[in-house]
Amino acid sequence: MGSKDSLNPLRVAIIGAGPAGFYAAEALLKSDKVDASVDVYDSLPTPYGLVRAGVAPDHAKIKSVTRKYDATAKHPGFRFFGNVTLGQDISVEDLRQHYHQIVYTVGAQVDRRLGIPGEDLAGSHSATEFVAWYNGHPDYAHLEFDLSQESVVVVGVGNVAVDVARILCRTNDELAQTDIADYALEQLAESGVRDVYMLGRRGPAQAAFTNPEAKELGELEDADIVVHKKEAELDPLSSAWLADNPDRLVQKKVGMIQSFADQASAGKRKRLHLRFLVSPTEIVGDGGRVARVNVVHNALVEKDGRMRPQPTDRTETIDCGLVFRSVGYRGFPVADVPFDDWYGVISNDGGRVTDGDNIRPGEYAAGWIKRGPTGVIGTNKACAQDTVAKMIADALEGKTLAPAAPELESAEGLVRSRTSSVFSWSDWEKLNELEVARGADAGRPRVKFTDRAAMVAAVLSGT
Ligand code: NAP
Repeated sequence: MGSKDSLNPLRVAIIGAGPAGFYAAEALLKSDKVDASVDVYDSLPTPYGLVRAGVAPDHAKIKSVTRKYDATAKHPGFRFFGNVTLGQDISVEDLRQHYHQIVYTVGAQVDRRLGIPGEDLAGSHSATEFVAWYNGHPDYAHLEFDLSQESVVVVGVGNVAVDVARILCRTNDELAQTDIADYALEQLAESGVRDVYMLGRRGPAQAAFTNPEAKELGELEDADIVVHKKEAELDPLSSAWLADNPDRLVQKKVGMIQSFADQASAGKRKRLHLRFLVSPTEIVGDGGRVARVNVVHNALVEKDGRMRPQPTDRTETIDCGLVFRSVGYRGFPVADVPFDDWYGVISNDGGRVTDGDNIRPGEYAAGWIKRGPTGVIGTNKACAQDTVAKMIADALEGKTLAPAAPELESAEGLVRSRTSSVFSWSDWEKLNELEVARGADAGRPRVKFTDRAAMVAAVLSGT
């Protein structure tokens, strides 16, 4: 345990430079109870996590939250160590030697599985891969998606499914105004996609997407939205539930979906089919590639206070050449940190990392790896503040790690001895300027670098 006097400053390693990492850094640096100094690590050279690699490129306003993160990065107690991977370049034990506290803000990096036959056929992908690909994430830039297919199924009706469907339906001109990866812009411009089927296993009242996202689906320049009137109607259980629990947002969502069902086709080039009460039962291949999806129609039943889908004997087949599974993210274990496999999060008690029944002193979690992949970006602010409040309380009680070398230069020396291409905040600022300049040439907000080595080379050469 560290003594109070040795905590000047309180040295904190934050693992993951996404929203939760930045909100944790902000809360620590703004605290008047401790004098904190934070090192934010990321395995990518670039910061911002899912704001850069997850938020849809046509949602520029949401991305502008990075200005707040940049303000945090200007604090003298903030350092960024990009291009450094925990578990590869440095270990948790290394961090214990250099910091009083460690907070894991690594997000939820993998997709949940459907668990149906055919899930791994060629042409069946997780939405997480496609999203990372079109956003230019270096680890996904090499992936290939057969966008020559006319018909695509997107399983799930959450906001990620909406993003995927919308990006597939956008016109080239719409996409060309965004920071979508260059190669994705080119390939989507050549796309043969005409029909996109989003599959919701429950009804309109249970759709996971939020209202502004649903509204956008009805306003696509070159895609008609198609909703079956029968599927837009509320089943008796949902009607009764809404009558007992009048929820303005759900009522609005259902109203919007029903108005889509009333819309006549405007004869646009593409169609976005928003389906409800259907579950995929098998992805069927032809010659090893996706050819169609078998679905079963569901009825809703109430179980344990939740409306659940129950298969009926009605089935249907949707011909398609591409499937995106968008049924939620899942956390991935961090080496040497206890993991709760059932919930897909780091084992924790309100943000304090636990090992069985015991708290692991000095180790914390915030964001999706603490509570699971739910909520919008801002949800991570309250989540990180809650964890930081516990970190500060523990620090004031002297319940921290007892690092042998808490000096600023020791941590930096360690990191630079392990990898030669560490990205500092000023390196990122240079890369950012280069991306924005490349964008200006192309009339776009930025043209991203999508390869780690190219990022490093660009910063070194200034071009
Ligand atoms: P999500 O909101 O949890 O949605 C998952 C969807 O998959 C739900 O429709 C769910 O249906 C469905 N599903 C789950 N298991 C299924 C199965 N076995 N078969 C068929 N369908 C299944 O997850 P997400 O879309 O990945 O989004 C993650 C978080 O990021 C959410 O909080 C979301 O709001 C947020 N996000 C926000 C934005 C934005 O603000 N614009 C954009 C992207 C993501 P059930 O409801 O029936 O389980």
